[in-house]
Amino acid sequence: MPRTILVYAERRDGQLRRVAFEALGAARRLAGEDGAVHAVLAGSGIVADDAAALQARGADVVHIADDPSLGSYAPEAYFAALRAAMDAVRPDALLLGHTAAGRELAPRVAAAYGAGHVADVIAIEPDGGDGALFVRPLYAGKAFERRSLAAGHPWVITVRPNNLPPAEPGDAGGRSGSGSVQALVYAPPPLLTAVRGVLRRAGGQLDLAEADVVVSGGRGVRSAAGFEPLQALAAALGGAVGASRAACDAGYCDYALQIGQTGKVVTPQLYIACGISGAIQHLAGMSQSRTIVAINKDPDAPIFGIADYGIVGDLFEVVPLLTDEILRSR
Ligand code: FAD
Repeated sequence: MPRTILVYAERRDGQLRRVAFEALGAARRLAGEDGAVHAVLAGSGIVADDAAALQARGADVVHIADDPSLGSYAPEAYFAALRAAMDAVRPDALLLGHTAAGRELAPRVAAAYGAGHVADVIAIEPDGGDGALFVRPLYAGKAFERRSLAAGHPWVITVRPNNLPPAEPGDAGGRSGSGSVQALVYAPPPLLTAVRGVLRRAGGQLDLAEADVVVSGGRGVRSAAGFEPLQALAAALGGAVGASRAACDAGYCDYALQIGQTGKVVTPQLYIACGISGAIQHLAGMSQSRTIVAINKDPDAPIFGIADYGIVGDLFEVVPLLTDEILRSR
């Protein structure tokens, strides 16, 4: 059954996020060959390249909300833009990234349109008929729920970054990126808050949630300086550094790196846990990673229970050896 799908193509720091392309890929598959995929770009000073990138990857129509009120993220402003796109497109489904903004906007839109909402989807499967099953992890990945959505109501779906295949250039197929670009006409609401300034941490690294490789350190790293070998390994692999809460609590690294139940959820291709015991609260943030490597000097550490590869040893010996080997093999 052909469907009309709308994708919220999230931008950050003036660039489209990778999860926008992952949502677009899912939208193209959900829409079907004869369906239509629309994307909405919201921001201030949107460049034509972003719309072109979405068109080349399968968006039939790109709707642009370009307004000063969208210069910094404010939920009321972005919600108004999404609402305008929903009214213009009347989609069967809206897809967003399961990001901080997506998690905030999706339930608002669902409530406003009486839509069914499924959050944190990691896979979309056929249901044997016309519909789709949306798979989401529960209980820190110990169980999976397959949820279908009632026909006749719109759906609002958030997709977890790094799980669904992204739309690639050329996915427009016969459409060959020939879709249209339309300006959304709507009345931006008055802003209830104003961003007066943003303090950026120096030496920003790859976004943890979107990194293909994450090298994480725990209490076993022992100090801030102890993270340096992990940073070298992450750099060699083109990845990002994460941490357990114990490492953050001890002041070895910033809380922005915390992975787990009360930190970030990551699903990289490769997760390397160094000096991390494998507490359930940590697993909640990384157990869905494709391949898990654990380095721990305690052979009975619970992390080995979910690791694909385990190295029993001192991380300060193993991590530099791994880094050297990776650099040498280039
Ligand atoms: P530890 O459990 O102390 O493990 C350190 C490991 O390092 C040990 O296994 C040890 O064998 C190994 N080790 C030591 N030295 C070396 C060495 N030289 N080489 C190799 N291995 C070595 N935790 C999170 O991570 N994220 C969360 O979001 C989170 N949320 C929480 C929420 C709540 C409500 C609660 C109660 C707890 C939460 N925690 C969270 C904390 C969690 O329960 C654990 O305390 C924490 O994950 C332990 O971190 P760790 O594995 O680094 O430390």
